[in-house]
Amino acid sequence: MRIVRFIVGKRPTYGVVEDGVVREIRGDIFGRFSVTAKTHSLKRIRFLAPVEPSKIVAVGLNYRDHAEELKQDVPEEPIIFLKPPTAVLPHRGKILYPKPCGRLDYEAELGIVIKRTARAVSAERALRYVLGYVCCNDVTARDLQRKDGQWTRAKSFNTFAPIGPWIETELDLSDAPIRAYLNGVIRQDSNINNFIFDVPYLIHFISTVMTLYPGDVISTGTPSGVGPMQPGDTIEIEVEGIGRLSNTIVRG
Ligand code: MG
Repeated sequence: MRIVRFIVGKRPTYGVVEDGVVREIRGDIFGRFSVTAKTHSLKRIRFLAPVEPSKIVAVGLNYRDHAEELKQDVPEEPIIFLKPPTAVLPHRGKILYPKPCGRLDYEAELGIVIKRTARAVSAERALRYVLGYVCCNDVTARDLQRKDGQWTRAKSFNTFAPIGPWIETELDLSDAPIRAYLNGVIRQDSNINNFIFDVPYLIHFISTVMTLYPGDVISTGTPSGVGPMQPGDTIEIEVEGIGRLSNTIVRG
């Protein structure tokens, strides 16, 4: 099932996507909800980010192909950092190229959306805490990341966390191709089966550090092939089985 959040009039609304049609839902996406008779064309809705996370927890190095590309050892434990909720951007939103940044990179990532409060959950039980999956772009000011020596500024500008286009509640975690397209040209092409740390382990590991709330997003790291974007570019992040998240770059 695909759960989409969008604007009707001025009202944020949730719906489910079926065959190009959005059916409004009533209730709580983290609890019980039902599909109503109100429908909209998927082509005509204005997308919102599917959740409003209290935090985005991102994983620094989680693909074997990316570790090889960087000539770095496979980490013993996940390397995690935070992106603020103010960075969230919906499908079709504009990524702002900030003034102090000299190199702005895309990073295609699978996002995990948390369904219920998770604190120190075991890997065995972790998937019970998942509502579904989204495409994420861990937008990074690469030069500022190097200059600052830590990552907060480089990862946190407004619009640096595109999430969407919707939440897919079913995904084959053993085989999901993940790609980035820059102006339609493929730049990253991998599969989440190259993960160093899998989805249940990441939920376990992170939830033993900090409590995860419904709507929080774990961005699970990027494969090889990261690269720069320029104002005017269109960047698309695709996870097969979810869909394609599309954003354009403008001068901030
Ligand atoms: Mg990343």
